[in-house]
Amino acid sequence: MDIALTRQWVQAVAEAMDEHKDRLTQLDAAIGDADHGANMNRGFSAAVTALDTFEPESVGQLLTKVGNTLISSIGGASGPLYGSAFRAAGKALTTPEPDAAEFLAALRAGLAAIQAMGAAVLGDKTIVDAYAPALDAFAEELGAGGDLAHAAARAAKAADDGAHATIPLQARKGRASYLGPRSIGHQDPGATSTALIFEALAKVVNP
Ligand code: ADP
Ligand code: MG
Ligand code: MG
Repeated sequence: MDIALTRQWVQAVAEAMDEHKDRLTQLDAAIGDADHGANMNRGFSAAVTALDTFEPESVGQLLTKVGNTLISSIGGASGPLYGSAFRAAGKALTTPEPDAAEFLAALRAGLAAIQAMGAAVLGDKTIVDAYAPALDAFAEELGAGGDLAHAAARAAKAADDGAHATIPLQARKGRASYLGPRSIGHQDPGATSTALIFEALAKVVNP
């Protein structure tokens, strides 16, 4: 994963959030406060703007910048959660341009940050339900000798499956948990935006 690709990833995420903002907002209207699309769109568009005038020396610096920008530009729960994830991923990297295994370790640090902050586990109907299976698939593909492009493609599919699998779940974290059983039957907005983030990664690393 090099700096140019990482930039393209953030750009692709911003485009996806813009394209899907209405859907994310509709999902959040059903079980939250109808701002997830706007939150994610604002955060990633601010990240792209911040990167326009930033010349990082490493992928880690770039991801840390994205994380800080998300934290300062998104008001909702997703800002600190995604912001901490990108920041932790950035700080976990020790080489300027990580290979696929190091990049996986950084993504894992991102998930750990989300869970340290939000205390969600698999099945709580959150970001974790897309993020965790994505990393499992990523790791499995690398373990089987696959490269970054294949690992990212498998991760994107697993994240999307994970997001769909939140539909029958009852939310146990975040605003949706206030609804109790009424949160059942709706796809989680945060798991859906996580799937978009992995889809954007798969798109840019696929030659
Ligand atoms: P808010 O709920 O503050 O309006 P957003 O609408 O931007 O923030 O984000 C809502 C999403 O945040 C939820 O769909 C869920 O996936 C995620 N979320 C909320 N709380 C947690 C948590 N404790 N751990 C992980 N993800 C969470
Ligand atoms: Mg919301
Ligand atoms: Mg909100």
